[in-house]
Amino acid sequence: MKPPKFDYHAPASIDEAVALLQRYGGDAKVLAGGQSLMPMLNFRLTRPAALVDVNRIAALAYIREDDSTIAFGAMTRQRTIEFSPVVAARLPLLREATRWVGHLPIRSRGTIGGSIAHADPSAEYPAVLTALDGAVVAQGPRGRRTVKAGDLFETYLTTTLAADEVVVEVRLPAMPAGAGYAFEEFARRHGDFALVGIAAMIVRAGGRCTAARLAAAGAGPVPLRLRAAEEILERDGLGEAAIEAAAARAAELVQPDSDVHASADYRRHLTRVLTGRAIKRALTVATA
Ligand SMILES: Cc1cc2nc3c(=O)[nH]c(=O)nc-3n(C[C@H](O)[C@H](O)[C@H](O)COP(=O)(O)OP(=O)(O)OC[C@H]3O[C@@H](n4cnc5c(N)ncnc54)[C@H](O)[C@@H]3O)c2cc1C
Repeated sequence: MKPPKFDYHAPASIDEAVALLQRYGGDAKVLAGGQSLMPMLNFRLTRPAALVDVNRIAALAYIREDDSTIAFGAMTRQRTIEFSPVVAARLPLLREATRWVGHLPIRSRGTIGGSIAHADPSAEYPAVLTALDGAVVAQGPRGRRTVKAGDLFETYLTTTLAADEVVVEVRLPAMPAGAGYAFEEFARRHGDFALVGIAAMIVRAGGRCTAARLAAAGAGPVPLRLRAAEEILERDGLGEAAIEAAAARAAELVQPDSDVHASADYRRHLTRVLTGRAIKRALTVATA
């Protein structure tokens, strides 16, 4: 199917993009990598009056680091992230999650800002943003604001951002040196969206867990931070029983729906199995 008719704009600056979004009063969409938006247009699941193509705004594509944070311009491609030495050294969980995103051609076009703004609860980047407690910077007619992951995702494919706001930057705290990490996922075929995915980061000191970060994708309307499961590890350590208890708690915390791909019960089962696997694999790469 072909998309419905739309006006097309390719602004050269962020200010111009915001002005265009404002002009259409909520009836325009940002076009980033197009890997989710174009299929939705072709299936006529969305019918915006206009597309605001931000691909020519060079100021939106960068990776910058400081002592504590890695900042990504919203138009940074997933492929760039996959091969970034900065990401490999300071955000290896994000690099691992990137390899689960679709296939190479999709990652060559798809962007970090688009993946997060799209807010698919099964997607990997929103889960990593949630696990690591990252944030996005959005620019709208009233200026810029920072929205933390916990305040960003509202429900399926919906964020708390206004229709005239553009995601300009995604910020993730650098992982502590030596932290263990793993992104475990189950999908029917390689490259499909996850039935369930688990992002894990574990900071250990011997048998003690000094910080655990766990988040689930595909197990509810938004990516879910599994705080009560993290607390079990931080309190009881990293032995087999504590890991089993954390995995069981994770399965209680999620609120999956049944759909054509899997039942809610199966997704809960996957949450338990994948949480256990993610914690155990994270420990194999933890060097602290
Ligand atoms: C076959 C296939 C398999 C895929 N598998 C996966 C997968 O396994 N995991 C996964 O995570 N993704 C998957 N994707 C989706 C892919 O990762 C997309 O790149 C991503 O979801 C959207 O990023 P994009 O840059 O292409 O955004 P677009 O498709 O251009 O936009 C998506 C939405 O976000 C909005 N948007 C985009 N950028 C901004 C911005 N800067 N500010 C405000 N709003 C913005 C758009 O208006 C639109 O509503 C798959 C896609 C395909 C086609």
